[in-house]
Amino acid sequence: MRNRLRSFMAARNGFDQLGLALTAGALFLSLLGQVIRRSLPEFLGMVLLVWALYRMFSRNLARRQAENLWFLGRVRRLKSGVQGWFIRLRQSREYRFFQCPGCKNRLRVPRGKGRIHITCPRCGHRFSGKT
Ligand SMILES: [Zn+2]
Repeated sequence: MRNRLRSFMAARNGFDQLGLALTAGALFLSLLGQVIRRSLPEFLGMVLLVWALYRMFSRNLARRQAENLWFLGRVRRLKSGVQGWFIRLRQSREYRFFQCPGCKNRLRVPRGKGRIHITCPRCGHRFSGKT
């Protein structure tokens, strides 16, 4: 039985991080549907579950791995964005944060210096801001 399952799953994508997220999302939506007594979240949860199962049994490994990599990249970006937000929040008493209009780089300047000229260290763009 175990061997048959193993040979069935060989050369199939199986469970990856995106599969885990889809399954977790399906579970969450299903519970949400139960709590608010609406069928739309449950239906969407079923869609996610079917998607997760499809990916699990898929033999197109290159495509599934590319999807998973894309997903991991998005998660990493979201994580660093949230971390950056917390760091800025923690430092917001002593520093004022600006975003360079030229290259979107984030800049940190000490508070309480009045109106100052800021030069972006990355692209050299100059702009002024009130600290
Ligand atoms: Zn810049």
